[in-house]
Amino acid sequence: MTDNLPLRGKVALVTGAARGIGRAYALRLAQRGAHVAIVDFDLHSYKDYQLEAESMRGDTVVDEIREIGMRALGFQADVTVATALDTAVQQIVDEWGRLDIAICNAGGGVGPPEETRASLVEEDLVGIVLARNLAGTINTCRAVAAMKVQKSGKIITVGSQAGHRIESNGGYAHYGAAKAAVAKYTQYLARDLGPFDITANCVAPGYISTGRLPPLLNAMGDTQLENVPLGRYGTPEDCAGVIEFLASNLSDCVTGAIIPVDGGLTYA
Ligand code: NDP
Repeated sequence: MTDNLPLRGKVALVTGAARGIGRAYALRLAQRGAHVAIVDFDLHSYKDYQLEAESMRGDTVVDEIREIGMRALGFQADVTVATALDTAVQQIVDEWGRLDIAICNAGGGVGPPEETRASLVEEDLVGIVLARNLAGTINTCRAVAAMKVQKSGKIITVGSQAGHRIESNGGYAHYGAAKAAVAKYTQYLARDLGPFDITANCVAPGYISTGRLPPLLNAMGDTQLENVPLGRYGTPEDCAGVIEFLASNLSDCVTGAIIPVDGGLTYA
């Protein structure tokens, strides 16, 4: 008989999960039987975006996870501060005895496309974007490598199509470079942690429609979709499906992989 809770009793950490795609990861893992801790600057950050706020079924994602029937912890912390991750992981292990799954999702770009072309992007924007995407991911991975003592674990980082292809407007050079580095770092991590039976893989979302993005996607118009073989924007649920696969034992022999979730955009 098939167990429809493939993550029953597992313990997971998801960063950047107060809204958006990270929230979908956290809820999916809980729906599949995991206890989930989330980290975000602000657990109420969904309130800044009307569509995100309208989709919430609790005061925070922590409450939503508990509503599903799983245990939850919430940390308001900045992933660019290494000690904050160390503290969170220590508390998870103290409370729940282990950590099985880590999703390094916190990140994102800053600045308008026309000011972030490779020859123009300012030093302060470069610093912010490298910190929140690359350093934040490395800080999280270093902390969750506490999994080594268990000799098992699943680490999933979040890259982007922008790390593998260049938009025709040339914008977001700093973000693309940071996400390319996240993907390459993940492959180093897979090599490092393989002997501990810990897998490390990177998902690379394409254009994903969250409650934060409709104005931006509307501004880009349908011409953007001409480059997408499936002809539609992805959804947080599309991304969560791949996360579920990478977090479960279906992917036990998959490590060091970069998996696009982009409707075919990257390799079209
Ligand atoms: P959102 O900006 O909607 O949500 C990200 C959450 O992470 C926010 O609550 C944000 O807080 C938080 N966060 C950002 N930096 C930090 C930090 N240093 N410490 C703690 N929390 C932080 O992002 P999405 O859901 O759209 O994207 C999630 C991930 O997927 C990101 O890594 C993004 O780069 C990647 N991605 C998204 C795509 C898309 O189309 N949406 C496409 C490709 C990749 P705050 O609001 O305060 O910034």
